Amino acid sequence: MSLIVQKYGGTSVGTPERIRNVARRILATHREGHQVVAVVSAMSGVTDNLLRLAREVSPEMPPSERETDVLLATGEQTTIALTAMAIQALGGEAVSLTGAQAGIETDGVHTKARIAHITPGEVHRFLKDGKIVILAGFQGRTPEGFITTLGRGGSDLTAIAMAAAVGADLCQIFTDVDGVYTCDPRVVPDAQKLEEISYDEMLEMASSGSKVMQSRSVEFAKKFGVIFEVRSSLNENPGTIVREETMSMESVVIRGVSLERNQAKVTIASVADQPGVAARIFGAVADANIVIDMIVQNVSKTGVTDISFTLSKADFESAERALAAVLADLGPGAKIEAQDGIAKLSVVGIGMRSHSGVAAQMFKALSSADINIQMISTSEIRTTVIVDEPQIERAARVVHAAFGLSA
Ligand code: ADP
Ligand code: ASP
Ligand code: MG
Repeated sequence: MSLIVQKYGGTSVGTPERIRNVARRILATHREGHQVVAVVSAMSGVTDNLLRLAREVSPEMPPSERETDVLLATGEQTTIALTAMAIQALGGEAVSLTGAQAGIETDGVHTKARIAHITPGEVHRFLKDGKIVILAGFQGRTPEGFITTLGRGGSDLTAIAMAAAVGADLCQIFTDVDGVYTCDPRVVPDAQKLEEISYDEMLEMASSGSKVMQSRSVEFAKKFGVIFEVRSSLNENPGTIVREETMSMESVVIRGVSLERNQAKVTIASVADQPGVAARIFGAVADANIVIDMIVQNVSKTGVTDISFTLSKADFESAERALAAVLADLGPGAKIEAQDGIAKLSVVGIGMRSHSGVAAQMFKALSSADINIQMISTSEIRTTVIVDEPQIERAARVVHAAFGLSA
């Protein structure tokens, strides 16, 4: 008998019929003689709808983050009850647990709480009684008992953290695609499913836009050595195994391509080239709780320079406001230039550590498609460029093909 943690995402539980399908799958695993904890997300669209409602009742100010968590947690709470009912209707014994009831304790950072620890006593008790445990993804509670959520896509994290806490033999992330592909199959139709991918590659892909896994969940899996499989809830095909890298993984130079839309770029032109200027710019942005991404500062020959950075389009206006407030301290001629409508394209692979020429090959592919590169950044296993958003899908396809990833 094994202990298996499964996770079913929003599309997989998006309709009553889909919930019945998930219930049948969970039940089949249980009837093979395994203990099962199934983490479920809110039905697809529900979290977005709840966020819309919150904005509608609070147009004057951003809705309070504490109350946002109370609201969003209802999405997953609906699905656990429905899934447990569906299993019971099919003759199985299931019990639903919220994150709090399952002992998931977090810090108090509402809407993006971090898991502090898990006390899975209740989970073990129900499993020992022969019950299937249906666990609400994406949520936990503070030490005081307040409801928190774990950031968008956070049900992945619930599954991986619970798998670590209960010492699961297997962790399966069921979604609406057959696994992790060389690129989002909705953008690059000839992308190929990967048999395996290392934690580091999955992490870089997730944090550069491949939303198939929440990046924090991959970080957690790496830290605690949770091997997991990403696979489809709609068929029986084997999925993609995510785990620590092996020697053979290094021979592949580029594992995948990811893209992220809805990016924006801010340039502060003609700032004084002297100590403290960058600190003032990024201090102001950080104080406004804005996460920034790529930073580029030009070489200065004249005592002034330009500093550019990218960020999510959603934070664009607050960044402009924050910078306008400190502009006078940045030099006499300093001015802000802001642009949205850009997107980010990355190639990722641990083989980049030992192979040269990846960036050149990527730039050549883009140039042959007449796509202009606006900014460039790299890590040890990733090269990223910024291009105009309308060109991002074509850019992904040409780069994907140039690295021989197409089927
Ligand atoms: P779930 O609701 O199951 O959590 P998500 O919508 O969060 O599912 O993630 C699955 C989606 O991720 C797929 O439908 C696919 O469009 C997208 N995706 C982006 N990049 C990739 C990739 N490299 N491989 C597979 N899917 C990807
Ligand atoms: N329902 C949450 C979201 O839409 C969590 C998840 O689906 O993983 O982000
Ligand atoms: Mg997801």
